[in-house]
Amino acid sequence: AAELGRRADLHARSSLQAETLLGSECRRLEPGLGTAVTAGFSAPLEAEVDPRALLPAISAAAESAGARIVSAEVSEIDSGAGVARLADGRTLAAGRVAICAGAWAGSDGLLLPQQRLPVRPVKGEILRLRAEPGHLPCERIIVGERFYIVPRAGGEVVLGATSEEGGFDMRVTAGAVHELLREAYRALPELAELELVETAAGLRPGSPDNAPIFGTLEGTAGPIVAAGLYRNGILLAPLLAAGFDALFASRELPAELIPLGPERFDRPGRVRQVQ
Ligand SMILES: Cc1cc2nc3c(=O)[nH]c(=O)nc-3n(C[C@H](O)[C@H](O)[C@H](O)COP(=O)(O)OP(=O)(O)OC[C@H]3O[C@@H](n4cnc5c(N)ncnc54)[C@H](O)[C@@H]3O)c2cc1C
Repeated sequence: AAELGRRADLHARSSLQAETLLGSECRRLEPGLGTAVTAGFSAPLEAEVDPRALLPAISAAAESAGARIVSAEVSEIDSGAGVARLADGRTLAAGRVAICAGAWAGSDGLLLPQQRLPVRPVKGEILRLRAEPGHLPCERIIVGERFYIVPRAGGEVVLGATSEEGGFDMRVTAGAVHELLREAYRALPELAELELVETAAGLRPGSPDNAPIFGTLEGTAGPIVAAGLYRNGILLAPLLAAGFDALFASRELPAELIPLGPERFDRPGRVRQVQ
């Protein structure tokens, strides 16, 4: 009940439509929900995007706008010289460097010790199930305290996601799969009928206050960093794109990004770009 209240409050504060529901009202909207669901709220404006479709689409759009995409490991960034050294021996020169290294933004080597970002990996395990086309177990995204279920038109049902603090560990564990299936099955028993087609783990980049880190290092002309995107990197993509656009063009950042500068972690030599 406390978690429901917190989420309903968050929606209300963000002026997002939300309606508190009894368990029976939840089942009227989603008949597959079990009797373990005793209360809920409906948020009709919630939506989802498939990151596996989004990323190639963004790459293709960038290339058609003139970007050159090089897939390689960066071993060192010399922002003073405007050069990235690649592990295969090549170097890439750039007028401006942006560092988006996810959970690895705090790793040794990539950045100078004083530039390293205070980012930690937070493991998330996730499952993909498959329903017969036209026979999805639910119509809407269903979110519980420790799981979410995302039905997709083609029959895919995504069941996520754990949140585990355990370093750079990408193993899928039996315990996490069990926990996700147990929690989601209690809410939506029909899930048990679906085919389990994939188990996966990824690393979310978490900052010390779990809020994103966005801004420049070492003054306004230094490298741009987008780090610590934690659970919301996909959701935040349009806002961060507007932030990059502003920094590349030396314009003021969108207001939401201004408090997120790396200097809030009180490390010397870091200045936020605000004009
Ligand atoms: C299970 C799970 C579920 C999630 N669900 C959601 C969700 O519903 N909504 C949402 O908004 N977000 C979600 N996220 C979070 C989202 O995936 C992250 O916030 C986002 O991926 C962070 O983006 P990023 O570019 O900072 O890091 P990443 O996506 O991790 O990308 C960083 C990239 O940098 C590369 N890299 C690192 N070091 C180097 C180097 N030295 N040289 C070259 N390349 C390097 C890495 O290989 C990686 O490809 C989820 C994450 C997980 C794990």
